[in-house]
Amino acid sequence: MKRVLVAGGLGFIGSHLVDRLLKRADVGELTVVDNLWTGLRDNLDHPADERLRIVIGDIERAPLSGRFDEIYHLASPASPPWYMAEPLRTISANVLGAMRCLELLEPGGQLAYTSTSEVYGDPLVSPQPESYRGSVDCTGPRAAYDESKRCVEAMLFEARRTRGVRIKVVRLFNVFGPRTRMDDGRAVSNFVTQALRGLPITVYGDGSQTRSWGYVDDILAGLERYWWRDGVDYPGPLNVGNDREIPVLQVAEYIQRRFPGCEIRHLPPAPHDPTNRRPDLALAGQVIPGWTCAVPYEEGVDRTIAWFQARMAGATRIPEAPEPILLPAALVPELRPAARRRRRLTAGVIAWTDEPPPGAAPARA
Ligand code: UDP
Repeated sequence: MKRVLVAGGLGFIGSHLVDRLLKRADVGELTVVDNLWTGLRDNLDHPADERLRIVIGDIERAPLSGRFDEIYHLASPASPPWYMAEPLRTISANVLGAMRCLELLEPGGQLAYTSTSEVYGDPLVSPQPESYRGSVDCTGPRAAYDESKRCVEAMLFEARRTRGVRIKVVRLFNVFGPRTRMDDGRAVSNFVTQALRGLPITVYGDGSQTRSWGYVDDILAGLERYWWRDGVDYPGPLNVGNDREIPVLQVAEYIQRRFPGCEIRHLPPAPHDPTNRRPDLALAGQVIPGWTCAVPYEEGVDRTIAWFQARMAGATRIPEAPEPILLPAALVPELRPAARRRRRLTAGVIAWTDEPPPGAAPARA
């Protein structure tokens, strides 16, 4: 029987992972370590399973005895306002957390890690294959997250090369769905909670920046197949995400239509906000053939609305997300909500140009 450890198992994705791990008959003991920084105790209130043990503490130093046959390291905030509020703690959770996971791994055991599409930074190729090395600013506002994820990838691949550690690294793209915090601050959860509270939906910049929104059940189905179900022997990195790319404004407008009278408010852009993001899933097609994201974002958003609605109905207090870091309004003379950014695709390399809004006078030389 396997001893399994999930670091970050009370979090949004971690708790869904725990549910799936508990369905396995070969898991004899499942330990969750979570410091409740962004995780929620309620996320695992339901499984009454005597194999499950929850340790509240940091993965870097929580008291744990013995070694584990499988370790899943998801202990990190993933929402920009959360990781930007505590960047050093973010680096520690990822990097020192991964060091600790290596120490806790039984020889011959498997260490799985959730890296991120953020390793591609603001990508200059679209879609992004795993071979793309990214365009990341190592001192920018997103660096604590991006670079610690990149550092852990380096650490794990070197552990594999020098010590033969079995690793499975995935790069997740914008996952959303039930069990996100009400004060999470990421796009879908923020838009939904704002609309449910009768507040304006806040779009940073003109909303033309794109993401590929993956519904949590689809993403977990892919992770489960890659990490244990299909017996895959491939270290990664593996893109796991939905490859339908949608501008942020379109998601905001979809949610707005679900809440008549709801306003969309454009705020200044977030500095270094990636302009686009879309996974190349060719490798995923070979490693876990036939896996696709079956839930369109519209349906995923509807399910997320229903989940937040139920959760907010029982809440006595609705917490606020940490303040996002946005460009000072003085630096953004006009937000140009009507402007459209046109994407030029040349041999897989994309460039963005501003296009005047329809009907605007042609620019003068
Ligand atoms: N975003 C937004 N309003 C919000 C939250 C996010 O316009 O209230 C934008 C954000 O600037 C980014 C996109 O939505 O372009 C996705 O942001 P999220 O925080 O969900 O994830 P990211 O991909 O930036 O890590």
